Order: sequence, then C-alpha cells, then structure tokens
Amino acid sequence: MILVFLGPPGAGKGTQAKMLSEELGFKHISTGDMLREAVKNATPLGLKAKEYMDRGDLVPDDLVIAMVEQVVLKEKKVILDGFPRTIAQATSLDSMLKKHGREVNKVILFEIDDEVIVDRLTGRRICPNCGAVYHLKFSPPKEDQICDICGTKLIQRQDDTEEVIRRRLEVYRRQTAELIDFYKRQNKLISLDAQKSIEELYKDLKKAVEDEY
Ligand code: ADP
Ligand code: ADP
Repeated sequence: MILVFLGPPGAGKGTQAKMLSEELGFKHISTGDMLREAVKNATPLGLKAKEYMDRGDLVPDDLVIAMVEQVVLKEKKVILDGFPRTIAQATSLDSMLKKHGREVNKVILFEIDDEVIVDRLTGRRICPNCGAVYHLKFSPPKEDQICDICGTKLIQRQDDTEEVIRRRLEVYRRQTAELIDFYKRQNKLISLDAQKSIEELYKDLKKAVEDEY
C-alpha cells in the first residue's frame, strides 16, 4: 500500500504521517526530513539542496526523484509525505512503481486556508536531534521549548519565517496544486478538512485509510 500525503506546507501532513505510521506500521518517507538531514550532514546532495530550501523553492526534480527511488521500493507500506510535488515527480513515481507491478493506492489531500497555515508555521518548533514536531500553542512540549522525547532544546526551522512561508505558498500554488487534478483523474484523491484539531483529523484520516483495506 502506497499513500501520498498532499497539501500545502503546514497543513499537518508530517504530524499525521508520524501518528499513522506508528499505529499501522507504515514507513514514513518525508522528503523534507531527508533533505534537512542531508543539509545537516553536508552531503553532496545537502550542499546542492540548501540554497533552494533556504529560499523556499523546490529542490530540482532529478535530485529528489533519485533520493526517493532509493528508499520507496524497499518498503511494502509507505506514506510519501511531501513527495511528489511536481507533475514531473508524479509521472516519474508512477513509471518507477509500474516497472515493479505497483502503484500509488490513495492520495490524501489536506485542505486548509492560508491564514491558518501562517499560524501553524510561525508557531512550529522542531527538535534538531530527533525531528519531533511541536507547536507553541497547538501541540506544546511538556517542558517549555524542550523535546519530550530526547530532552533537546527545540528550534524554529530556518524556512518558517513569514517571508519564506509566503514564497513556499506561492510555489505550492504554482507547482504542486496541479497534482490535485492529476490524482483526481486517476480516481485516487481523498480530501480531508485539515483545519480540524490533530485528534479529529487523525480520526478522519484513519477512517479513510481503513476503508481502503
Ligand atoms: P513543509 O513541512 O513545510 O511542507 P517540507 O519539510 O516538506 O516542507 O519541505 C521543506 C523544503 O524541502 C521545501 O521547501 C523544498 O525546498 C524541499 N523539498 C521537500 N520535498 C521536496 C520535493 N518533493 N521536491 C522538491 N523539493 C522538496
Ligand atoms: P506539514 O508537514 O504539512 O508541513 P506539520 O505536521 O509539520 O505540517 O504541522 C505544522 C505545524 O502545525 C506544527 O507545528 C504542528 O505541531 C501543527 N499542527 C499540525 N496539525 C495540526 C492541527 N490539526 N491543528 C493545529 N496545529 C497542528
């Protein structure tokens, strides 16, 4: 089973993907997390990707496709979070899977208004050590600014500033939103109201996924 999580930055894809993979045994593949790890470790990929990410632009398709290809075929149950983000990525994913007799099963669209997104992204804090995601208001850690899981001091992502958020939203509209029609035509799209609370949204998500089994 291969699920794609589609939606603007800050819609809650990563939060829900973590919860669902823990409960139902999916492998959570987040291209954003993988790229941030590559930047942190200053790998050749990370060095190339950094300037795009800092600006809020997409990293070139060929780099991202090669990165995903290495991991996705190894897994049976996968959540692709933040990939594909362009038509070129989506068609290349389809043909890669087809060669192995597989396909994307369902695409979950996280629907949310822009004002809500800005609130979510400016309040987002992450653990630089284990990648856990928090929100100052909506999902605060038990101890102020400290990761519940590993005790590390939380940080704000470099691209979660108003200016870069605006750029990322523009990029989403220009390059990613057309995937909604792409997957609608394949009859794979399921839309969720991502403005609900984390728990309510999770209930809707689980129901949508379990209906597919
Ligand atoms: P968000 O959590 O805000 O949706 P991500 O963590 O998914 O953002 O992505 C952060 C940045 O990493 C993006 O702005 C982009 O530069 C890069 N990136 C992540 N996934 C992709 C992808 N599939 N294609 C191109 N660039 C990507
Ligand atoms: P994405 O992966 O789509 O960029 P995240 O899962 O990182 O989104 O969520 C963005 C921010 O909003 C995080 O700070 C997260 O704690 C918070 N958040 C996630 N889902 C919800 C929700 N349903 N309601 C309120 N805040 C949320």
